[in-house]
Amino acid sequence: MSCLFCGIVAREIPATIVHETDRTLAFRDLNAQAPTHVLVIPKDHQPDAAALAEADPAYAGEVLAAAAAVARQEGLTGGYRLVLNTGDDAGQTVHHLHVHVLGGRPMGWPPG
Ligand code: 5GP
Ligand code: ZN
Repeated sequence: MSCLFCGIVAREIPATIVHETDRTLAFRDLNAQAPTHVLVIPKDHQPDAAALAEADPAYAGEVLAAAAAVARQEGLTGGYRLVLNTGDDAGQTVHHLHVHVLGGRPMGWPPG
């Protein structure tokens, strides 16, 4: 199976890594939609949040904790948005779970 984000975990595909734990990795989105736009992923392949939560709920918690650590590290004291696009209607293009951490500007609501 060829997976872009597994390639980043394996350091086969370059990325700007900003945070790492035993089981998570965070790197800047190539096409940033906000002053801070970081993707947080589990190092182990899971297609989406539902799959990870079902397989290993504690691991899902680690991904959320890593997202919070990234927000803190990026100085997003005014707030930030976590996005987990799931499936085609949400526009998920990479089928390896990733949490978008978006911040550094006011976020509109509802999203597009
Ligand atoms: P999705 O639409 O699946 O929720 O988000 C996938 C995200 O991955 C997009 O925001 C896109 O810009 C980002 N992305 C796609 N390819 C790469 C890549 O090779 N490197 C990095 N750092 N981000 C990527
Ligand atoms: Zn993967």
